[in-house]
Amino acid sequence: MPNLHLANLIDGRLQAPIHGAWLDVHEPATGAAFAHCPDSDPADVDAAVAAASRAAAGWASTPIEERARLLSRLADLIAARLEEFAALESRDSGKPLSLARRLDIPRAISNLRHFAAAIMTWGSESHAMETGATGSGAINYTLRQPLGVVGCISPWNLPLYLLTWKIAPALAAGNTVVAKPSEVTPCTAALLGELSIAAGFPPGVLNIVHGPGPTAGQAIVEHPAVKAISFTGSTATGTRIASAAAPQFKKVSLELGGKNPAIVFADADLGDANMDTIVRSGFANQGEICLCGSRVLVQRSIYATFRERYLARVQALRVGDPNDADSDLGALVSRVHCAKVLGCIDQARADGGRVLCGGTALSLPGRCAGGWFVAPTVIEGLPSAAPTNQQEIFGPVVSLIPFEDEDEALAIANDSKYGLAASLWTQDLSRAHRLAGRLEFGIVWINCWLLRDLRTPFGGARQSGLGREGGSEALHFFTEAKNICIRY
Ligand code: NAD
Repeated sequence: MPNLHLANLIDGRLQAPIHGAWLDVHEPATGAAFAHCPDSDPADVDAAVAAASRAAAGWASTPIEERARLLSRLADLIAARLEEFAALESRDSGKPLSLARRLDIPRAISNLRHFAAAIMTWGSESHAMETGATGSGAINYTLRQPLGVVGCISPWNLPLYLLTWKIAPALAAGNTVVAKPSEVTPCTAALLGELSIAAGFPPGVLNIVHGPGPTAGQAIVEHPAVKAISFTGSTATGTRIASAAAPQFKKVSLELGGKNPAIVFADADLGDANMDTIVRSGFANQGEICLCGSRVLVQRSIYATFRERYLARVQALRVGDPNDADSDLGALVSRVHCAKVLGCIDQARADGGRVLCGGTALSLPGRCAGGWFVAPTVIEGLPSAAPTNQQEIFGPVVSLIPFEDEDEALAIANDSKYGLAASLWTQDLSRAHRLAGRLEFGIVWINCWLLRDLRTPFGGARQSGLGREGGSEALHFFTEAKNICIRY
């Protein structure tokens, strides 16, 4: 029986869903339900938007020092309970506890601290004009005003990390928020909601409504009082959100799927550290990171030796109980997602792909016997156009693809409807710059992966999204620019 009961945060109070409906939340490592989360509907969203609307003017006029102080306070409260957050995130998502401890929760804390600091130093532009020889002129200055109530909708793969990546800039810029975390992994968001009360946020400034996308999420997107939607999730859902928001001309920021290439040239430094990073870029968080390099393009002259070393490393990855310190990979997030990933592997086989390692579900003994585990899988022998190389699998599945030269590498890398992130492995500086300019991706990493500076623009090209997050890009998104022109 689930023993954890989550609540919505509306108007500064923890509340049960109005119509009393609940969803089961499962622990991927065991397959058992361990929590109940509100199955909220439009009535809950209406209540949250009403609370956020009441709080909007007060929060917009709250001094930035105070907004920054509250964000920092929330960060401190999370930091003080880091272990509890990490354990909950791991239990809810199936990711290794060590990863939640090292990546997810520290990054959530950094997101809050980053935007607390960023808002304190953020300025807006002014443009001086000469209007004639008489000494007259004009000065334009730009006001960047909060939008009012904004919606923040986040996915299950990096639950607290991506929720805070949205709510921190939204709140820092003076907006009130109605957030909806993924119904698949709602637990750490619920705990954050509790801590926001302890941090002292005024009622209604941050509201968290749990529930399914098509009901609770869609109600946020369609609500006329919600001025902007910041969404991270699949391209299919992003399309729905864009079309629902368009008739109301809402601002939308969409961070969507990816099918990212890691491009390895013969001249790359393939020492152990870089090999480990290339492997990690495919399999970290069970491959459930939008930035994972699931297509590894390797120059043909080193293909055979690279494949051997790569496979040895992948086969050494330990899939296990997320609580075990030596587990590199945990469980996939849900039964449905696990079945989808296994179906993609079957499709690769049917299309003539050779499964070099993995390719199956794994049964673990003991407490994890009912869990949703998949062996790290490497496939080769499929053309760029094959579904395996085109569809986002979002699991521990990497496809190896050989290429001859720079032009072919570029053609294969860009042969995708997605354009989120590419990584490039070469010691030739000119080639690195040349290709970085021609890769049609929002992010290009050279000789690294997932190295993130929170001030930089983050987002994808083509069907990987619309707009950018991070640093001043996020603060621009969450504000309306107004130009004031004064003639003198
Ligand atoms: P998803 O699109 O199914 O769900 C994301 C969120 O949207 C959830 O909170 C869900 O409840 C909500 N939602 C679903 N339907 C909705 C609707 N009609 N209206 C409003 N909200 C709705 O995505 P997911 O399966 O949770 O996450 C995996 C996907 O997220 C992958 O495609 C991955 O690439 C993508 N992702 C992208 C980034 C990025 O930064 N580009 C980061 C992480 C994950």
